[in-house]
Amino acid sequence: MQFDNVDVPEQGEPIEVVDEENDELDIPETPIIPIIHGDGIGKDVGPAAQKVLEAAANATGRDIAWMRVYAGESAHERYGEDIHLPDDTVNAIDKFRVAIKGPLTTPVGAGFRSLNVALRQTLDFYANVRPTYYLDGVPSPMKAPEEMDMVTFRENTEDVYAGIEWEEGTEEVEQVRDFVEDEMGFDETMHDGPIGIGIKPITEFGSKRLVRKAIDYALEHDRDKVTLVHKGNIMKFTEGQFSEWGMEVADEEYPDDEVFAAPDSLWETQDEIDIPEDAVMVEERLADAMLQWMQLRTDEFDIMAMPNLNGDYLSDAAGAQIGGLGIAPGANFGDARVLAEPVHGSAPKRAGQNMANPTAMILSGRLMFDYMGWKDAADLVGEAVEETISSGKVTYDLERQLEDAEKLGTDEYTEEIIANIEKLS
Ligand code: NAP
Repeated sequence: MQFDNVDVPEQGEPIEVVDEENDELDIPETPIIPIIHGDGIGKDVGPAAQKVLEAAANATGRDIAWMRVYAGESAHERYGEDIHLPDDTVNAIDKFRVAIKGPLTTPVGAGFRSLNVALRQTLDFYANVRPTYYLDGVPSPMKAPEEMDMVTFRENTEDVYAGIEWEEGTEEVEQVRDFVEDEMGFDETMHDGPIGIGIKPITEFGSKRLVRKAIDYALEHDRDKVTLVHKGNIMKFTEGQFSEWGMEVADEEYPDDEVFAAPDSLWETQDEIDIPEDAVMVEERLADAMLQWMQLRTDEFDIMAMPNLNGDYLSDAAGAQIGGLGIAPGANFGDARVLAEPVHGSAPKRAGQNMANPTAMILSGRLMFDYMGWKDAADLVGEAVEETISSGKVTYDLERQLEDAEKLGTDEYTEEIIANIEKLS
């Protein structure tokens, strides 16, 4: 493959696909990994994460051939005027399969909704995955934040992310209104006057592959439970159907002693149901109730799989329980591909001041290592971050919430984590 404006590093080797459907990759000792540092604070946290991840790879006997690619403002500077997502970047992430990115600023009025959405959709990263676990020493509003250890799987291509909607005052929105009233018989449902209308598509294909991904993750990581979170009591034919298709995957695609599809009545009769020992239980819950249970019965939940909008709300709420944006990691999974990225945005007012907290991007790299099967390097990253924070050495965002903590700049905090990697390895 030809790249016009970026170089493929000579010393590394590409990651090859062994079996796309089963997520099997062949990872060389020095893989080529594309990295986008990102806009705003991406210029601080991107290089910081790169250094920490490289240190952990080296400490476990490996190396990384970083391939710097560009998107957002840095692409605009390098490639010229209207280019924010160059083909080079999309092709590199496509070809090399495992990549990491920092936050990107969404250009206002550039004719597309978000670079992140464009990147996820172009390469079909259909599951947005966010592990939410407590790091010792991080300030949290909860009484027992250490009970939180969840992973959310949010569908990334349909539901509201499909973006099918019509603006008030347009000819199109009136056509859709006429169709819904006259052809589909909802003639008493919508009020007269200006209206906006959206469509919420949920397909069998999209629902099943997301739930399958979540169940496979649970099996691989020794998790006990997958909860399908939906609002099917109101949206029966979209959210309710998501849950039904999800339960079908659990019921039909795995042996019962591996994956157990819990019946509807489970909540009331939990003690009487004979759940095969060691099986992953797949259950379903209503989204509104889930938001309170997540706070009141935190330790009962494990993996959550959801349509797009529920995933948006629930993953942010879960993140808030363990300390918020500066430390919240994420990744987008497709078939035999991953794009790791922190949850936070480019926080322009903190950019370029050696202030931003790089933890979220570093822990996104941990998730990437885990996906690559580099478990020892992933654990080392997690332990070194935790060691640093619990010793009270933190960036400004955590320091302002803690008593007796020492405030470090992005660079000094990064050096501290690297020193802990060396100490722990
Ligand atoms: P944001 O960039 O996440 O920042 C909001 C606030 O959160 C910051 O001002 C800062 O709070 C805190 N924060 C976020 N990340 C932090 C970090 N690493 N270290 C310390 N504090 C951190 O949200 P936004 O201001 O709404 O969005 C800015 C731009 O980012 C927009 O263009 C948006 O579209 C884009 N965005 C991109 C992504 C992505 O690339 N995936 C995701 C979300 C938003 P204080 O200033 O109070 O300290």
